[in-house]
Amino acid sequence: MSVPPYRHFTQIGDPVLRQVAEEVPPERIDTKEIDQIIDRMVKVLRHYDCVGVAAPQIGIPLRIIVMEFREGKQEQFKPEIYEERKMSTLPLTVFINPELEIISSQVNKHPEGCMSVRGYSAKVERYDKVRIRGIGKLDTPSEMELEGWSARIAQHEVDHLNGTIYVDRMDVSSFNCVSWEQVNSAEGRSAIWFHK
Ligand SMILES: [Zn+2]
Repeated sequence: MSVPPYRHFTQIGDPVLRQVAEEVPPERIDTKEIDQIIDRMVKVLRHYDCVGVAAPQIGIPLRIIVMEFREGKQEQFKPEIYEERKMSTLPLTVFINPELEIISSQVNKHPEGCMSVRGYSAKVERYDKVRIRGIGKLDTPSEMELEGWSARIAQHEVDHLNGTIYVDRMDVSSFNCVSWEQVNSAEGRSAIWFHK
């Protein structure tokens, strides 16, 4: 039987996604155990080609997040969408025990998805600018200011550490199955995959 840290994403309903994750105690920060968890998070992030992973999403109830919006990702979006959603490159960023501070009252409402609510999407309001502080790993500074889509990623991932999932914040009427058209064209012979 598979044990955490998993190579897949835990799915909504799993209690690990609904609990408040624990701070990593100082004596555990520079241990092989934590390094291995971070290593697994980065591998899962890149394997699934997503932009953020929180430790509970691989079954670990600790306050660790990884984020990355790599250069090549821009090609996955139409230029107008990339601009409208204020997307930008974010190098690999790893925080242990992150703290988020909202530094702009401006909000943006855009579609958002989550690997732990596989196959669906909805519009979510997020603050435009945040400051994130914590113990940086893999060359991450201890403090960063993020804007636009990067600020959205940080808010989404820190939410996971508090047992909050985007469906708690979404505009309910915008909730959609991302493959609904394919379901029709394939006469229902369509599946949501939980592995890649
Ligand atoms: Zn998520």
